[in-house]
Amino acid sequence: MKNGTGLVIGIDLGGTKMHAAAVDEHGHVLGESRAKTQPSDGAPAVIERLAQVARDAVTAANHRLSDVQAVCVGVPGGVNGETGVVDRAPNLGWENLPLARDLSEQLEGARVFLDNDVRVAVLGEHAYGVGRGTQSMVGVFVGTGIGGGIVVGGRLHLGGRGAAGEIGHMCLDPKGPRCSCGRRGCAEAFASRTAMERDVRALVERGDKSQVLKIRKKEKRPRLTSSVIARALADGDKVMCKVMKRAQEYLGLLVGNLVNALDPEVVVVGGGIAERLGEGFVGPIRDVAYERFLVDRDLQRVRILATELKDQAAPVGAAFVARQRLGVLHTRAADVHKPAP
Ligand SMILES: [Zn+2]
Repeated sequence: MKNGTGLVIGIDLGGTKMHAAAVDEHGHVLGESRAKTQPSDGAPAVIERLAQVARDAVTAANHRLSDVQAVCVGVPGGVNGETGVVDRAPNLGWENLPLARDLSEQLEGARVFLDNDVRVAVLGEHAYGVGRGTQSMVGVFVGTGIGGGIVVGGRLHLGGRGAAGEIGHMCLDPKGPRCSCGRRGCAEAFASRTAMERDVRALVERGDKSQVLKIRKKEKRPRLTSSVIARALADGDKVMCKVMKRAQEYLGLLVGNLVNALDPEVVVVGGGIAERLGEGFVGPIRDVAYERFLVDRDLQRVRILATELKDQAAPVGAAFVARQRLGVLHTRAADVHKPAP
């Protein structure tokens, strides 16, 4: 491929896994690669692994590193997109890390951009998934926490301080359980996987019979993963069904609130559980949300759907951001992302 025709690499960097995709100008994934993050090995080791998954994705796509126009990493935390510095990524134990520069050095000076992992996933769904062609969309990503993003006028809404989209911390009950942010009753404190695990434990400790913790042990999972949840639901585990139903009710409230505030064309529900269960997860959320809508005209025009791109949403979205930034840079004199010589 001639340089300029547009091979870019998008990487989803999570606390446990990383996933790189080599993506062409149509958003098609030509090659992929995955690795464990293992943040306890320290930042230099993680950055080396990032470089390796990027190279492996390029190889899988039958290309060379010199064909790559840019790389973008979706980071689980706050980043400065201008300087390419990770401000803070608690899951990785990173603070003030010049990731763009360090990764670029390992990739023969390739341009490296950074963005937030949830934002890139939302952009991926908007550009190539369920949000294709829409002007307004909300993404709700349910994982260990609840992240989100808002698209208005076809673009990601950043807000006055660049802090928009923290929908997991919308309060659904000020007297509710404690959230990871220190406040009470956020959506995340009711309906994240972490909250579901807490609720399962509470019911089991109360004496309810459940196989969930046994399945988790058998699958050697340290936490309640989406595969454990799916297994328990498939087995008809009463505790898991009860906990899931409660989480879906809160997610329905959350989506109802978002629709009343923003009236989006699409709400996409992503994250591991939505990837695995699809409509089985989203259906009950939609039912609750519909009851909350103030405007009940054209209900079906508000589409509430499970992720279409699944675990490719973030890497493909990161690739989209890389392409976007290149476009911006072509019109700018200063290339702030270029590594220091
Ligand atoms: Zn919170």
